[in-house]
Parts: sequence; C-alpha cells; structure tokens
Amino acid sequence: MSRKRSERKPFGIDFLHDPTLNKGTAFTKEERDRLGLRGLLPPRIFSLSEQEKRIREHYKRKTADLEKYIYLISLQDRNETLFYRFLLNNIEELMPIVYTPVVGQACQEYGHIWRRPRGLYISSKDKGHIEDVLRNWSSKKVGIIVVTDGERILGLGDLGANGMGIPVGKLALYTACSGVHPSLCLPITIDVGTNNEKLLQDPLYIGLRQYRIRGKEYDEIIEEFVMAVQEVFPGSLIQFEDFSNLNAFRILSEYRNRVCCFNDDIQGTAAVALGGIFTTTRITGQKLSEQKILFLGAGEAGIGIGDLVVTAMREEGLSLQEAQLKCWFVDSKGLVVKSRDNLQEHKLHYAHDHEFLPDLLSAVKTLKPTILVGVSGQPQTFTQSVVEAMARINERPVIFALSNPTSKAECTAEQAYTWTNGRAIFASGSPFDPVTLNGKTYVPGQGNNVYIFPGVGLGVIECGAKHVTNEMFSVAASALAREVSEEDLSKGCIYPPLTKIRDVSVAIAAVVAKVAYKDGLATKPEPEDLVEYLRSTQYQPVYESYV
Ligand code: NAD
Repeated sequence: MSRKRSERKPFGIDFLHDPTLNKGTAFTKEERDRLGLRGLLPPRIFSLSEQEKRIREHYKRKTADLEKYIYLISLQDRNETLFYRFLLNNIEELMPIVYTPVVGQACQEYGHIWRRPRGLYISSKDKGHIEDVLRNWSSKKVGIIVVTDGERILGLGDLGANGMGIPVGKLALYTACSGVHPSLCLPITIDVGTNNEKLLQDPLYIGLRQYRIRGKEYDEIIEEFVMAVQEVFPGSLIQFEDFSNLNAFRILSEYRNRVCCFNDDIQGTAAVALGGIFTTTRITGQKLSEQKILFLGAGEAGIGIGDLVVTAMREEGLSLQEAQLKCWFVDSKGLVVKSRDNLQEHKLHYAHDHEFLPDLLSAVKTLKPTILVGVSGQPQTFTQSVVEAMARINERPVIFALSNPTSKAECTAEQAYTWTNGRAIFASGSPFDPVTLNGKTYVPGQGNNVYIFPGVGLGVIECGAKHVTNEMFSVAASALAREVSEEDLSKGCIYPPLTKIRDVSVAIAAVVAKVAYKDGLATKPEPEDLVEYLRSTQYQPVYESYV
C-alpha cells in the first residue's frame, strides 16, 4: 500500500526531486551525510549566489522568449528557492517572461510546451467531487487561490485549459512581489470546455474536447468549487482571473459578500489604473474630480476602472450621479448612451443621456476628455487623429493603452509621444521601451496589475479579512500613487520601478489590512506595528538548513 504524502519522510534522491526541498549542488557536506545524498551530487559544493550565476548563463543562452519561459518554469519545478532568488533579483527583466506578454504565448502553446503538471485542474467531469480534488493538493494550508476558467486569457480570448499559465504566473508574482510563501499559493484551472476550434482540433491540447458548458450547470460547478474551498481551505482568498465578462461580473456579485474573493481583471485593474490616474493629477495639478475619462472598451477592465473612479470621486465630494457623468464609454458599437437597445447590465450606469456617436474620434472631439483609457483588446485603435485630438484639447493629454499583450495595445508609447510632441502622459498594459524624442527620454509606465494584487492579497490573508471591499482597492490605489517618486515623475513615469515592488506591496498590504480592522472584517489580532509585521512574514529565497 502506498504511503500518504504527509507520512512520507523524504530521504536521499527524494530531496533532489522535490523542488521545495532541493538545493542541488548547494547541499552542504553535513546535509549530504545526513540525508543520504553522498554520491548523488558532484563533490564541489556551490553557494546560492554561485548557482545563480550558472542560471544566468543558462538563461542567456535561450534566444527565444518562449524558450526563456520554459526554462524558468523548469527551474521552478527543480529548485523553488533558486527560481525565486533569480526572479526577485531580476524582476524587471523577468516579469515580461513570467507574465504578460510571454505568458500569453505560453498559454497559446501550452499543450506543445507541456513538461510537468503545475497547479490543480478541476474539470466538469469532477462535478460532485470537487472537494476530493482539492484534498489531493499537497499542501494542507493554502492562503491564496488564483483560479481561471480560461475563457478570456489576457486579450487572447478562449484558451480553455491552456489558461493554467495565468494562475501559475500570477502566483509566482505573489511570492516574488509581496513575499507570500509559495506553499500558501494554489493555482487552479476549471475546465468546462472551450469554444476555440483551433484548440479542439489540436491533437496536443490538454483540456476537455467539448464546447463550453453554460448556464445552470456552469453556475453549479462554480458554486460547488467556491463552497468546497471554504471546507478544504477555510479563510483562503480566491482571486478570479481571466473569466469572460459573461461570467466575471455575475460571479463577483454572487460571491463578493459571501466569501473572501475578488476579481483581478475588474478590481485589480481598476486600482492600478486609478493609482496611475492619481499620479497624473500630481503632474497636472488638478483634482481627480476635475477629470473626464473616456474609455474605449466597456468590459471587465473598463467598467471596473469606472466604478472605482466613481468611488474615489465620491470621496472628493461628488454625488454618485456627478461622478458617473465623468466616465464615458465607447464599445464595439459606439458611444454607450441611454438610447441604445440591449445594453448589458454592467454598462447601464454609464449610459448617459447624450446623442449617439458612432466612433472614438467623434467621441473625443465632442466630449473633450482629459484622460483616454484603452481597454478594448483592439490594437491601433488610438489612431494619430484620436491622439492628436486629445493633444489639442489638453496641455498634458493622459493616454493609457492598457490592452494586452503588446500586440493588442491601442497605440505604442512611441506613437503617443510622437503624435503629442512629448506632451502625453502615457501608460500601457504590457511593457514598452523608453522613447527618445528631440533629445529627451520618456519612460512609459506599465499599468501592470502586479502593482496591486500581491499587496492586496498579502494584506487580506495576514489580517484574515472575511471579505475584500471596494474601499480596499481605493486605498491601495492611493498608496500606489504615493510610492511614485519625484524622480520617476520627471521621466514621465507614473508607476514606481518594479525593483521597489516588495516595498510597494507592503505599503498596500498595510492600508488594505487597516480597512479590514476598521470595518470589523479582520479575524486576526491587529499587530502593534503592521508594516513591521508584514515585512516579517515575507518569504525570502534563501536555503533552509537541514542539519
Ligand atoms: P472584456 O472582454 O471584458 O471587454 C472588452 C471590451 O472591449 C468589451 O466591452 C467590448 O465591447 C469592447 N470592444 C471590443 N472591440 C471593440 C472595438 N473595436 N471598439 C471599442 N470597443 C471594443 O475584456 P477586459 O477584461 O475588459 O480586457 C480588455 C483589455 O484590457 C484586454 O486586452 C486586457 O488584456 C486588458 N487589460 C489590461 C490590464 C492592465 O493593463 N493592467 C488589466 C486587465 C485587462
């Protein structure tokens, strides 16, 4: 009879095959003696930093981005400490590989680059047994679950079970960016099928070969999953990720007051964008409530940002209606206005009493927004005419081209700066290189959700919050804006450098936890020095001694 995992005592080769324990050539002489590793490793003992040099060499040899991704995931599968050490020490360089844009390419080809399983797959065939599936996970204590059903992966659409790359990547960022211990992180993909014909025809596709389940049966699977999490991992935070907007808004409103959860595409995006907007007001010297924001795209990201902007404007004294009137949306059919038929429910608050305008350019010219936010997933939709119109209306036009990956951005950083003669305050979803124009170098900000979700998650789990509230995201946005230095601003960059991300995350975690304590949502006692306490919980990628 096989032994249960919890009863198993690793010895000898097991140490080398378990990425959470493995130190490779760094096992000391004493450890090698005690753990039965003599002879299983070459005699020379290396330090962690020497090992890191070797990893850098391996990594440099990979010329294609996808190969770099595969290499990093294999390192994570081999030696977790070394993986996080390398990731944390090179976060700016590796972020686009571990996460957007390269993770998108990895998801598109997941079945083809498949090596080892990572995360937990729950399929519609597991209906009625989801609790059992969760109990198969190796760790009995889980703090954060990132879950997707793969229907709207980045701006790439339905990738079915291949979407697993997203929860895996996001949780690696939780550990690297806010220091949540890797053993507390659980990536999950719920496979209810895919409507992606290319994947259904792909002989190496890893998911169920069926069309997506919809309606009552889908809802029952989600309900069973959420309830099973409460049983098996009570107190954990569920982060919904890359669900289509058909389900994302419904799921969020169903569960946000029942369990501890949030939707990163709606609320995380909203906070990172609001943080960026707060920072632009430091440059323009205006108040948030003086802004008029025009969105291209009225989906999860757009409506999420709009709703949080409204929350923040109300804190500046506007009424709900006044604040909503500051946010305007153009979707695939044109300006969202009252007279339009069959508008989806989430757009109704922003369907203003105004004549219908068929396209973005006429909306810019008529409404005269101060800020333009692209969350449409449609590349090159911020045309030269649109950007020039923004520059005619505003001394410092704010242009956020947030669609991911890079190939989907509404315009490039270079276009935004060139078409406005360097006056644009630009941010994007995926990274762009700095741009030099007339001798001045502009550093575009990346409105990456990674500035927000790791800090929010850390704050929530460390105070044991029962729910995640909108106010938590609004205070997170303000905290993010406070972390931008004058030096960052002078380069036109409205987000702090990623090298500061652990400090940023702690600052955000602290304000989030404070809201939970204030509102009676925390289940853990409040530490005397919250910031100090949060720092003390952060995972550090250093080897543990086994002797
Ligand atoms: P979604 O599918 O929920 O919404 C997309 C919206 O765009 C819909 O309202 C749709 O009607 C609209 N749209 C489609 N074609 C259009 C067109 N030609 N003109 C105008 N509108 C059009 O998707 P989402 O979750 O809102 O994400 C949208 C984009 O934002 C994606 O590319 C995603 O990668 C990006 N995003 C960026 C960040 C970030 O930068 N931090 C975070 C989340 C999402």
